Amino acid sequence: MLKTVRIIFIMALLAVTVLAGCAPAAVATEAPVVATEAPVVATEAPVVTEAPLVITDTELNVLCTPQEEWCQGMKQEFEAKYGITVNYIRMSAGEGLARIEAEKDAPTFDLWWGGPIDSFVSAKGKNLLEAYDSPNFVNIRDTKLMKDVDNQWVGVYVGTLGFATNTNWLAANPNAKAPTSWDDLLKPEFTGQVMVAHPSSSGTSYTAISTVLQIRGEEAGWEYIKKYAGQMAAFTKSGAAPAKFVCQGEAAVAIVFSHDIVNEIENNKCPLVLTFPAEGTGYEIGGMAILKGAKNKQAAQLWYDWAISAEGQALGPKYNAYQAPTVNGVELSHPELMEAKLINYDFIWSGENKTRIVDKFTNEIANAENLKK
Ligand code: PLP
Repeated sequence: MLKTVRIIFIMALLAVTVLAGCAPAAVATEAPVVATEAPVVATEAPVVTEAPLVITDTELNVLCTPQEEWCQGMKQEFEAKYGITVNYIRMSAGEGLARIEAEKDAPTFDLWWGGPIDSFVSAKGKNLLEAYDSPNFVNIRDTKLMKDVDNQWVGVYVGTLGFATNTNWLAANPNAKAPTSWDDLLKPEFTGQVMVAHPSSSGTSYTAISTVLQIRGEEAGWEYIKKYAGQMAAFTKSGAAPAKFVCQGEAAVAIVFSHDIVNEIENNKCPLVLTFPAEGTGYEIGGMAILKGAKNKQAAQLWYDWAISAEGQALGPKYNAYQAPTVNGVELSHPELMEAKLINYDFIWSGENKTRIVDKFTNEIANAENLKK
């Protein structure tokens, strides 16, 4: 009996404990909290309207190195966009570099647009360029390759070096084939039948000899260049001109940028076939820089930002310029030109050694006496 009573008591105790655990929460007996904070005031940031751009420069002086048609087109587009008058002179890269060096104490130009960056690297070494940290550097596809570490130049297009052979000449010389290697250019059938620009005036031509020196090393490279120079019908001043001469049948083969060859074939109906050296070809990154002592700095910066925007770079094909863009968001007009096998072109080495290499070429190779040897 006593045992039964004890069990009932323990069960009752357990039941109370369990029920207490399941019991609803105690009803709040404290006084309700009265909101004491200040009423909520609208917290959204006021709309900041950017101050309108006040353009104070009225003109911009551009040293323009790409083809005339593109220079003219870009001038008109920029003038229409900003109301700034653009004065430009078209000059080949080496010619332009010599000019800005000669004028360094009283520069004519504010900005240099186009031409292989080898010349811009060389200009940086001669203290001719002004650094500019453009907000549009974010657009650049590969800043390590396409932008100077000190912001003294930036890439605005990319182009690969190719060979243009006249198809009428090939038909008349059935044993000859369009060259597909650097050595092919030395074949006897091409003696006196090749054209390229002179590397002292032309960035295109300098890209070609720098490519050979980079592929073969200096000793074998110079041996090759001596023979190569002996194959030439003539050296032109501007890089793209040999394609025009070969189009007219003045020589069989031109060494030029492939986009220039495409331009001659597609727009001037030239009888040319484009080939690339199978062992690898050189390429250019076309550069842009503000020049030291620029008088119209605001206008120069506006062009600079615009030239590395998708809007600015999409304009190329409108003016028959088929170089590849350096910014994201622009379609390539001729992607096949970038499919050629490219060498790992060293732009810094090439730029830093430009004066020495061009002087050596001019003094030791491309003078009339040496070409006879
Ligand atoms: N024209 C075109 C179409 C080019 O792509 C380039 C290269 O930057 C040039 C001209 C350079 O001219 P040059 O070889 O006469 O210095």
